[in-house]
Amino acid sequence: MPGQSSKKIKEACDRCGTCCRQGGPALHIQDRHLVAPGFLGFDVLVTIRRGELARYPLSDQPEPVRQELIKIQGRGGDWSCRFLQAASSSCAIYDRRPLACRLLKCWAPDEVLAIAGRELLGRYDLIADNDPLLLLVRLHEQECACPDLVESGIRLRSLSRRAAMLCELEQLVNRDIAVRGMALQRYGLSVAPELFYFGRPLFQILAPLGITVTESSGGLTLQYRGA
Ligand code: SF4
Repeated sequence: MPGQSSKKIKEACDRCGTCCRQGGPALHIQDRHLVAPGFLGFDVLVTIRRGELARYPLSDQPEPVRQELIKIQGRGGDWSCRFLQAASSSCAIYDRRPLACRLLKCWAPDEVLAIAGRELLGRYDLIADNDPLLLLVRLHEQECACPDLVESGIRLRSLSRRAAMLCELEQLVNRDIAVRGMALQRYGLSVAPELFYFGRPLFQILAPLGITVTESSGGLTLQYRGA
C-alpha cells in the first residue's frame, strides 16, 4: 500500500536458531527444578565464574560477568546450545526449556532483558552440602579466582609489565590444573561435570587475551602472542 512500510514485523519465533547458536541460557532461580540428573545434570552445565567474559542476551560484545552464572553447555568446541537440533533448528527440551529461553523474543527483548543478570543460580545453590567436591570447589575459588581480564590485558600489552603478569597468570593456571587433578584423582571427576564444578580451565579463559600454553613435565608455560 502506498506510504506504508513493506518491512515485515516479526511476531513470533521463526526458528532461525540464531539465539540458541549464541549460547545456552543462564539459569535462574525459577529453573532450579530443572537441574536434575538425566535432564539438566551437572554434566550438561558449565559455570561462568565472576570476571569471565560472556555475552548478555542480545548483546554483541562479551563483557566481564559481575556474578557467577550457570549455563547449558555448548556442543563440541562452540557455544551453540547442546539442545539445539541443528537440522531442524529446534529445541530438544522445548517443553521444559529454561526461563530465559521462554522469555527470549528477539523482536521484543524487554522481558528477557528485565531478568538478565538477576536471580541467577550459582554453584552453591546446586551443590549439596554433603557433596565431597564442595570443599575443593571452595578451595578453587579461594586460590584460583578468575583474574581481572581487562587489567590483565592492559598489563600484558605493556612491555615493562608483561613478564610479571605472565608469571602471575602462569602460577594461577597451574594451580587451577592442580585442583582439577585432585578432583580427578580423589573422585574420578570427568571433564563434563568438571565444567560445572570448576568452570572452564583458566588457560582457556585467558586465550582471548592472546595467551597460548605449552605443556611439559614441569606444568603449563604461558606465552603472550598478542591479542
Ligand atoms: S534450551 Fe532450547 S531454546 Fe534454550 S538455547 Fe537451548 S536449544 Fe535454544
